[in-house]
Amino acid sequence: MGQFTEDRKYWYLFANYFVVECPVCKGPAEILPKVDWVSKKMLSTQRKLLCSSCGYFEQSRPKSIMRMNIDCDWVFGYPLFLKADCCGKELVAYNIEHLNYLRSIVAGKQRSRRKNSEYGWSNGSVLSRLPSWIKAAKNREKILKVIDRLTCRVHKYS
Ligand SMILES: [Zn+2]
Repeated sequence: MGQFTEDRKYWYLFANYFVVECPVCKGPAEILPKVDWVSKKMLSTQRKLLCSSCGYFEQSRPKSIMRMNIDCDWVFGYPLFLKADCCGKELVAYNIEHLNYLRSIVAGKQRSRRKNSEYGWSNGSVLSRLPSWIKAAKNREKILKVIDRLTCRVHKYS
């Protein structure tokens, strides 16, 4: 376990793609294409859902409305695959990259926030928006176990 230094990742940057529960087989289904939020190259809001386990395919309308959801994807509204009960709450991640990032925050014994030279302090970052139960030291071991279980669950399918 090392030190975790926040690098000002906004939580919504992880919503560039989603792993949801396949509506047919309940395995992990990906919603593509991935979005590059940084360059703002979002030419279309049309999304495709593809399940590599059962082959289920679904396509949204070309101009889909995106809703910023916490526990489901933003286009189809399917429940996220990476979710689990944890410490009486629900732990959710949009995709494996998001889950890995949460892991690095939880595992970091010391957390420090850096002031961004261009924007100053940010309160839109993953760290500052994280609920206090995820940051609580007493929950660390439990949360890490749940995260590792979710990671194994998604790797079982790949
Ligand atoms: Zn499926």
